[in-house]
Amino acid sequence: MSDFDNSYICPNCDYIGTISIHPIVCSMCKHEDCPIARHIQSGSRKRWIRIEEAGPDWRWDSTLDKMFKHHSADSNSSKIIKKTVKKLFKTFSQHRDIIDGIFPHFMQDYERSTGKKSRQKGNRSGQRSTKFGSVRGALYEGAFLRMMDLMDEFERCPARINPDHYEFNFHPDGWFLLDGERIPIEFKTVKAGNFVATKMSKSVKQSRKHGRRSKRFKYNQSGFSILIVCCPEERVFGAVLLDKAADAIV
Ligand SMILES: [Zn+2]
Repeated sequence: MSDFDNSYICPNCDYIGTISIHPIVCSMCKHEDCPIARHIQSGSRKRWIRIEEAGPDWRWDSTLDKMFKHHSADSNSSKIIKKTVKKLFKTFSQHRDIIDGIFPHFMQDYERSTGKKSRQKGNRSGQRSTKFGSVRGALYEGAFLRMMDLMDEFERCPARINPDHYEFNFHPDGWFLLDGERIPIEFKTVKAGNFVATKMSKSVKQSRKHGRRSKRFKYNQSGFSILIVCCPEERVFGAVLLDKAADAIV
């Protein structure tokens, strides 16, 4: 057993600590129920650092805009969301040279934290690409959260909401604060070639689920949700504000 097998990762403050009590409470910020951490293999971490350092800067891609052209939510709010997400990725680009200090070294060990097997199974190459994909997702989600911390418009959502509720528990990647309401954010990192409309349905559905549940539990009245997608290899990102009209086309 390595030193890393006994660590937790705090989703609130990113602290990595040694597990001594259950449920795990962060010794830095007292966040409860921290997940068990798994060390990210340094080789694959380095690969993504090289991709970031080589650049170029992130740029907006309009795939999502086109998809929801006739099904877009409130246009004024949409504009605010897009403008702010562009600012977020600009900040991301500005931190590219120090990305080694921003990407996390640990990720959540889903199986050991929840006692559940990861849902994606299938053949060996499928498992390999899932593992590779989950490292990519963990690195970029970690960096994304740190960029969010720098802006007042965003807030982390470190814990699952209504975890004991069988049907309506949910866990957005973060919140966008808009007109005194919290709009759930689904953040998705895709591999090269997958930033296309035909590959977006699953993420849109996930985002809409968060939108419906956050309205149900009074985080907002609009039922809006935000989907942010990025493809590090192609250096593109996009974001869309969704409402129930999106349910009709996915
Ligand atoms: Zn903490």
